[in-house]
Amino acid sequence: MPDRSLATRPHPSRKPCLTAVLRMAGLRPTRQRVALAELLFGGPHRHVSAEQLHSEAAAAKVNVSLATIYNTLHQFHEAGLLREVAIDAARSYFDTDTSDHHHFFVEDEQRMIDIPAEAVEFKALPEAPQGMEVAHVDVVIRVRKTPA
Ligand SMILES: [Zn+2]
Repeated sequence: MPDRSLATRPHPSRKPCLTAVLRMAGLRPTRQRVALAELLFGGPHRHVSAEQLHSEAAAAKVNVSLATIYNTLHQFHEAGLLREVAIDAARSYFDTDTSDHHHFFVEDEQRMIDIPAEAVEFKALPEAPQGMEVAHVDVVIRVRKTPA
């Protein structure tokens, strides 16, 4: 079992002023964007896939296609409101916590758990290719339940 302090951190709500948040990020606060922003940012920090957000939107009677969800998630990501964590070529999660940190990915539950940045140390990292700099390093540690 990982130390629970790795998984639980206080997450302040960002519910107020989502319209202002969208505007400040350079996005027009359309009804759909505000509704999706409420679902994403209305509670504690979390990790969500496009499919998960699509079912949450349906449950909240926000009528949007999966394609629109994808577009909106990518727009929010481009605007710096979300961090994208790629699990493999076909799957990404979007993280409402854009600060530097890493993740456990629980394979049998398709769930991400935060790892604080300082819990991971790098002994050696390669130099960035010429003319480039390291933007950030994402570590995803894949875990599964130990057999009973
Ligand atoms: Zn995270």
